[in-house]
Amino acid sequence: LERELFKLRDLPAETPDGHRILLKGNAEFLEEIDSIRRHGGDGIGLYRTEMLFFNRTVLPDEEEQFRLYAAAVRAMSPQPVTIRTLDVGGDKFLPDLDLDDEMNPALGMRAIRLSLRHPEAFKAQLRAILRASALGKVRVFFPMVSGVAEVRAAKALLEEAKLELGGKHPFDENLEVGIMIEIPSAVVIADLLAAEVDFFSVGTNDLIQYSLAIDRTNEHLVSLYEPLHPAVLRSLKMVVNAAHAAGIQACICGEMAGEPMYLPILLGLGFDELSMNAISIPRVKKILRRCTKAEATQVAAKALTFATAAEVESYLKSEISARF
Ligand code: PEP
Ligand code: MG
Repeated sequence: LERELFKLRDLPAETPDGHRILLKGNAEFLEEIDSIRRHGGDGIGLYRTEMLFFNRTVLPDEEEQFRLYAAAVRAMSPQPVTIRTLDVGGDKFLPDLDLDDEMNPALGMRAIRLSLRHPEAFKAQLRAILRASALGKVRVFFPMVSGVAEVRAAKALLEEAKLELGGKHPFDENLEVGIMIEIPSAVVIADLLAAEVDFFSVGTNDLIQYSLAIDRTNEHLVSLYEPLHPAVLRSLKMVVNAAHAAGIQACICGEMAGEPMYLPILLGLGFDELSMNAISIPRVKKILRRCTKAEATQVAAKALTFATAAEVESYLKSEISARF
């Protein structure tokens, strides 16, 4: 079976009726990039930058961050790397950046909120990302965006970072800027957010957590953490529709993207790119290469008619075994 999946590596991620979507890998360590290549990924859809910040007392400076991003971009080149700015807090602890103890860390000072609170540190990261964009195809995106004001503030700091490079370092003048859609408010105002950015990437791990008010790390709540909950499926639909109405790309980089059973829904809703653990790429590609866009559109429409996640799941299982 593994052999068969590996053979898929060099075949395009395309439906039988010729609809192409991008299947990319998520990475946080350089070593993972080789695996994305071996599994036939179309680039890195989510490069997590937290690792460099853990277990240290002094924050990494622009130079150290640049070296890491440059290595990632070179290793993945000519395929693109989508770099996410720092996403600590919540379930990603950063003990050394004296964060206050919080009653509700998942709702606390985290991700883009933390970056906007420390603009100098944030701009150092943005300069490092900009410099890496001179070495290959790079995109940048911001985690945990809840509203337009945050996006505008982050983009203003990105412009400052460009000025600070002051012609000393080259960068991609047209660097694409995106946001994670992982907070319900972002789903509801996806049309307003789409006017501000070049792409959306849905973080389903957090979107499920915040939509259903289910702690993603609480082992007692696992059965209530439902990716196929009708509220989640409707949210995904709203996000794709808002993105496409504005002419921007809709991606998913949460775990849902790597579950082959969900592929017909995600394809049918119209997502342009799915980014996942490298090992999932061949399994997802296998279903993609058997499922026409027309079939997927039908499956997605039908999936959205059910009232519970359990009903959606049994429908999907029967469709998958019957058709693909
Ligand atoms: C997500 O929330 O779905 C996501 C991709 O980001 P992370 O798991 O790093 O929070
Ligand atoms: Mg997240």
